[in-house]
Amino acid sequence: MDSAAATHVGLVRAVNEDSYLALPDLVLVADGMGGHACGDVASALTVHAFERLGARDGHLEPSDVAGAVEQANRAIVSEAHQHPEKEGMGTTLSGVAIVDQAGSPHWLVFNVGDSRVYRIADGIAQQMTVDHSEVAELVASGRLAPDAARTHPLRNIITRSLGTTPAPALDTWLSPVTSGDRFLVCSDGLTNELEDDQIARLVIEAPDLATAAQALVDAAVAAGGRDNVTVIVVEMKGQPSADEDQAQARTMPRKMLGEDAK
Ligand code: CA
Repeated sequence: MDSAAATHVGLVRAVNEDSYLALPDLVLVADGMGGHACGDVASALTVHAFERLGARDGHLEPSDVAGAVEQANRAIVSEAHQHPEKEGMGTTLSGVAIVDQAGSPHWLVFNVGDSRVYRIADGIAQQMTVDHSEVAELVASGRLAPDAARTHPLRNIITRSLGTTPAPALDTWLSPVTSGDRFLVCSDGLTNELEDDQIARLVIEAPDLATAAQALVDAAVAAGGRDNVTVIVVEMKGQPSADEDQAQARTMPRKMLGEDAK
């Protein structure tokens, strides 16, 4: 898959505690938090656990992603245990990977916490992940209107994160890859500043992935930049469709055409 990332510390925070990783077949955003500004350590440890997947041979499998999450969680718990000043540090995690499922490529969307993955299709940004947060649970149970979630006092309280014992459960979604599928992976510094329809418009109107990523971050900062903001925009290259295969069969190199003309 092709991807482009952008990040910004924002206008209020002193440190960017978000980290991200963009490999050819896996992208993720981790939004660190905790204690004495150690959130950046927790999110960096998570990226480090996933970087090892970039060095392997062959296709990713869903179990590789689950294994890296467990490894990241262990690393954060162990670091906090050895350095008591880092106690309570943790991180969210959201991402998309291309995995092999029954011999064919599938996209795997995954998350822990309130960083999100959106699918951008048909002019809209559809949230794929479910936030693990107090407000998301209140909305799901019908006790809070979705419109009120953005300003609710509990909006920053997450109910699942890496850095806990036992390790958090990872939510995943799996579907066959179609060429041209587009996704957005982001920290809540984006989604607390911009509405979903603004997000969709910025991605769709951009001429390329890098421009889209930068436009999203710029818009979140312009809207207030109250938090670190990190985005990765992804497009699946996928398998050529049957139509493209046929088009390929009808096409011939120019050199051959020239020889025919002689
Ligand atoms: Ca955040």
